[in-house]
Amino acid sequence: MNQDEYQAKRDFKRTNEPQGNTLKKDGHPPIFVIQKHDASTLHYDFRLEIGGTLKSWAVPKGPSNDPAIKRMAIPTEDHPMDYAWFEGPIPEGEYGGGTVMIWDKGSFDNLKTDKEGNKISLEDSYEQGNVEIFLKGERLRGGYAIIKMKSGRMAGNWLLTKMKDEHANPDFDPVKTANRSVVSGKTMEEIAKGMN
Ligand code: MN
Repeated sequence: MNQDEYQAKRDFKRTNEPQGNTLKKDGHPPIFVIQKHDASTLHYDFRLEIGGTLKSWAVPKGPSNDPAIKRMAIPTEDHPMDYAWFEGPIPEGEYGGGTVMIWDKGSFDNLKTDKEGNKISLEDSYEQGNVEIFLKGERLRGGYAIIKMKSGRMAGNWLLTKMKDEHANPDFDPVKTANRSVVSGKTMEEIAKGMN
């Protein structure tokens, strides 16, 4: 776990973003969070608990339920575990200045196995750039793959794709349908204004 980049980018006298790793869940399944973030450009921050930290990607178009659609996922710095509970405004002028909504959260199972069917740990599959998980969120459910591109113009970025299973649904676009926080029920505008 290395959260130095996270710490270095932020002035904690000015932003309310969390610094802690108190949200440890030993013996429980790992957690995920998707935060809708209206910053310089709108995106969805996809974060998975791997190795005691939140591995993070910015997904400009958000997740899809359609296995035919691949969504660009740009890796960002590891976030502390407590970030999974963060919702609120980040002051203008600060790193990531704008509004953060908890768009989905829950736990997940690791699906990744080798050819013999042996489980590959989340840490190893992350290092190999090939993570397969089953999300148990309030909005998203089912298998998702997030795979690193190793060559070509987009090398180093990842692609987030819904895996083919009974939860796939090309006709349901979760990003277009769900506009409120799964925690507070607030819209982005209400979060930005600090309304209850
Ligand atoms: Mn972000």
